[in-house]
Amino acid sequence: MKDQKYMTRRDFLKRAGLAAGALAGSALACGRGEELAHLTPTPSKVAPTAGPGTTPIPVATLEGTSDTVLVNGKIITVDSADTIAQAVAIKDGLIQAVGTDDAIRALAGGKTKVIDLSGKTVTPGLVDPHNHLQVLGLLQSFYVPLMPPEVRTLDDMRAKLSEVIAQKAEGEWVTGYFLVVGDRLPNRHDLDPISPKNPVFVIQQGGHYGSANSLALQIAGITADTPDPVGGVIERDASGEPTGVFYNHRAMDVLRKHMPLPTPELTRDNIAYAQPVFAAGGVTTFYDNNVRGVDTIKAYFDTDREGKMIIRGQVYYTLEWPGDLDRALKEVEYYEGNGFMRFAGFKFLLDGQAKMGYCHQPHNGVRWDTPTWEPQNFKDAVRALHDTGLQICVHCFGDAAVDLTLDAFEEAMNANPRPDPRHRIEHCVLSTPQATQRIKDLGVLVCTQPQFIRLGGDHYADVFGEERARRVIVTREWLEAGVPLALSSDAPTAPWILPVVTLFGAVTRITFSNRSYQSEQCLTAQEALRAHTIDAAYSGFEEDIKGSIEPGKLADLAVWRKDPCTTLEALSKEPLDPETYIPALRGLQIEMTMVGGEIVYQA
Ligand SMILES: [Zn+2]
Repeated sequence: MKDQKYMTRRDFLKRAGLAAGALAGSALACGRGEELAHLTPTPSKVAPTAGPGTTPIPVATLEGTSDTVLVNGKIITVDSADTIAQAVAIKDGLIQAVGTDDAIRALAGGKTKVIDLSGKTVTPGLVDPHNHLQVLGLLQSFYVPLMPPEVRTLDDMRAKLSEVIAQKAEGEWVTGYFLVVGDRLPNRHDLDPISPKNPVFVIQQGGHYGSANSLALQIAGITADTPDPVGGVIERDASGEPTGVFYNHRAMDVLRKHMPLPTPELTRDNIAYAQPVFAAGGVTTFYDNNVRGVDTIKAYFDTDREGKMIIRGQVYYTLEWPGDLDRALKEVEYYEGNGFMRFAGFKFLLDGQAKMGYCHQPHNGVRWDTPTWEPQNFKDAVRALHDTGLQICVHCFGDAAVDLTLDAFEEAMNANPRPDPRHRIEHCVLSTPQATQRIKDLGVLVCTQPQFIRLGGDHYADVFGEERARRVIVTREWLEAGVPLALSSDAPTAPWILPVVTLFGAVTRITFSNRSYQSEQCLTAQEALRAHTIDAAYSGFEEDIKGSIEPGKLADLAVWRKDPCTTLEALSKEPLDPETYIPALRGLQIEMTMVGGEIVYQA
């Protein structure tokens, strides 16, 4: 087995077990922990996915005897007519036919593998169009978890960090990630007493804020005289001294460039480790939407060449500084994998999370009026990358970030009106009604995460005021305006990564206090499923080969214990009671995931 050079199957399973533990900490993790211990990450070989401008559908003969048939089930095809079928046939890694049991059984021969679904439901394999797959591995290998239930308070964090530091040599860096430890971020005064001889940096799981101790600040040479970088905030106390708190990547990078980096080998291991976790949720395609550094892009393609991809992926290279543009243009177009990975385009971060949302009007966060990029530099970079012929995705939390992005897209598209660029806005948490119309008119897509309302929904009005808080993730408004909408996990920036949680979030918009936030913006279960399959594939130019169960498409499938659409639809009509929805979501377990007709996960 050629995998063994880097990670044995036993290691895979061991690390998958670690992930299971982390997931089990979330009330919405649906008890997936145990199933993850039974992962069978079987590398499989199928025809290549398309690169931009190539013929999208792999050549194959759909005539003749099937390799595999799945019969006696409910096949939710997500084709344009939302056809429901009973059975599906697979040949050469592709969907050969979809239809009745009788029609599909007629395609089976003596060597055909017959899978009796016993009434279970099959959907297209989920396409997760915005996540950070390798970071999920990083959080299990490079960072110390400081997560609930073990870590809920600053004291918990200090206790856990003390244990870790006791095992480290003097001077060795300690890095961790946390979810919440009270109503503020930890500062250097919180961290110093337990870490006099080790530099410490802990990052909030959302990924945009972090905290360091005094020794780390000293190593990085960060003092009262260090200016804030464009688009980032180094928090100061009343006397102007850095507190150790950093807002946005640009600020954290002032410190992080002095920290040790994960090795390329560890990054490859992280990529190999995280895929079975995604596959266990029914995901057959991921788009890593924020790949920082060409080394990480290389790691994805190296992993593919090593034959260690079990699900398919695309990567978006994040342009962080104007000065990186030339390098990005030169380097990123040459990567070739082994058919599972594709280079899709570019990513910008134009603001951070709520407290750093770039908005038209003041808010009660940390900084409201500062985009991460100086606007003209941003527009110039968008223009240059638009001319590559590839896609551009821009992270936007605030309404002003959305409008600046639309301005940049519009100017680039007017200057070079290439057909169908499908540029994307990521998250789009706050936006104006006028922006919705512009998004539609420009053919821009929105890729969002209504499940995040669970984390923020009870607090948006405190930060943004009642009126603006009504404009949070307006999914129904976008659909009704005809905006192409994709749903994603954004894993691992929240404590859950499963598509079922994303779908549940979209149909309920549930908050931690178990109320539905702006319920008029809820999607139906069918709409949510489309946005996580065919429309998610559309968001990455892959709708011709993925996202629905139709002859000629890749045989990427998710088999569910129950019908996710009827279950979620029923849940959305009941009062939002954890006693009801948690068991119901547990019942929506993935039984089997297939990529190219090969089983990559089985419960
Ligand atoms: Zn993200």
